[in-house]
Amino acid sequence: MPQASGYAAQSAKSPLGPFSFDRRDAREHDVVIDIKFCGICHSDIHQARDEWGGSIFPMVPGHEIAGIVTSIGSGVTKFKVGDKVGVGCFVDSCRTCAECVKGEDNYCLVGMNATYNGREKDGTPTYGGYSDHIVVDDNYVLNIPDNLPLDAAAPLLCAGITLYSPLKHWNAGPGKKVAIVGLGGLGHMGVKLSHALGAHTTVLSQSLKKADDGKRLGADEFYAMSDPETAKKLAGTFDLIISTVGVAMDYGQFLSMLKKDGSLVLVGAPEDVSTFHSFGVIIGRKSIAGSMIGSIKETQEMLDFCGKHNIVSDIEITPIDKVNEAYERMLKSDVRYRFVIDLATLKA
Ligand code: NAP
Ligand code: ZN
Ligand code: ZN
Repeated sequence: MPQASGYAAQSAKSPLGPFSFDRRDAREHDVVIDIKFCGICHSDIHQARDEWGGSIFPMVPGHEIAGIVTSIGSGVTKFKVGDKVGVGCFVDSCRTCAECVKGEDNYCLVGMNATYNGREKDGTPTYGGYSDHIVVDDNYVLNIPDNLPLDAAAPLLCAGITLYSPLKHWNAGPGKKVAIVGLGGLGHMGVKLSHALGAHTTVLSQSLKKADDGKRLGADEFYAMSDPETAKKLAGTFDLIISTVGVAMDYGQFLSMLKKDGSLVLVGAPEDVSTFHSFGVIIGRKSIAGSMIGSIKETQEMLDFCGKHNIVSDIEITPIDKVNEAYERMLKSDVRYRFVIDLATLKA
């Protein structure tokens, strides 16, 4: 098996550091990818610190992977050496359950095989994109449109699809009022995508510090949740509110801002339990729902949509030896808006 190198967390309490491990040789349907860039998602921090429980160590995080195909198995027809490709949050699924057959493999009933902190079908632990290369079955590899730069496209593989999927599912578009809670990695993609889909888009942030950015990213309106007037002013306003916040909270304030039949969709995944009062949904027949990334098919649709509309992430490139500092800055909301690791710094 070829040696791979990357950065791993050895335990929930240890910082990430250099790590060597094995990747399989390419099988018939595998694509071997030289990883050029990998985004840092807040889920990487949750899992490297075992905040959701059940983490597998050593862990090489990273599921916003962008790179170039260096070789292909004999049965691969969709990709060729030199192609710009991406890998998102999962690298396989059962392929036979009702959801897989329907093309909603992100909701595989057996459980999709996560890109890292998961296992291949044979039980081998998966290792993610904070590494020099990855070997992935061609059904789970995405084409990155030629006009998009690899570094700024990398975050589309998780942050992009995680917002695109609920925006489409809940029909964001002309005539709809959408609010995005939290202007971070996911949130800023939500603003760009909601705007591109034609919805009237509002940001609900903790403060007004990012207001100028919000408007530049495509928001029509921007409010601070710390201002008690915000909830009053926006009562009954939105068709759809998507919360990207990864910290537990009471959802009552957002429910009050929904129109009748409106939906509050949670994509942020806090460690702790959030709360809401039943009357928050009873009055006005409102819904609280969740959404998890998107299928491979929808991820390709999102990448093509981004290619057509020239949408990428706003990024700050970081060398891999500064990944622990990047985590600390993300926890302080101190990144505009996604850290992306330049893997050339691993290979140097
Ligand atoms: P991020 O870049 O850290 O952004 C989170 C944003 O939430 C911050 O920028 C901040 O925005 C806001 N925020 C932070 N602390 C807050 C607090 N105490 N109260 C209110 N708002 C706060 O994180 P991310 O990468 O976008 O990920 C966000 C969450 O989504 C994480 O929990 C992650 O695990 C989860 N996630 C879920 C899926 C899925 O499939 N459902 C996929 C990927 C990630 P402001 O500065 O504007 O307030
Ligand atoms: Zn993610
Ligand atoms: Zn399945």
